[in-house]
Amino acid sequence: MDNRIAGKQFGHCVICGSTGKGENDFICSDCGDPLCATLYCTGCGRRLNLDAKSARSFLADYNYDVKDTCGLIIKVDRCGACMALDETANIEIYRIHF
Ligand SMILES: [Zn+2]
Ligand SMILES: [Zn+2]
Repeated sequence: MDNRIAGKQFGHCVICGSTGKGENDFICSDCGDPLCATLYCTGCGRRLNLDAKSARSFLADYNYDVKDTCGLIIKVDRCGACMALDETANIEIYRIHF
């Protein structure tokens, strides 16, 4: 059964899933920080600001080479807090633009 209410549909933050005011998907201001990299864990909902050095070393573990980490959002399904030692996380990388 489709529970959607007919009419206008609102977009969601592609990172944390919060509902927006417009119709398009977006990245909310909690998830995107133009001055640093942000890690968001969909597993436990933890949000973490990373400085450039930690962001780059984290990304290097996943074979990403990113020069500019400002405004970068790393979405993971497991983070250090909710991941078992032998597990690996799936990561997706987003960038906010201004
Ligand atoms: Zn968000
Ligand atoms: Zn987590």
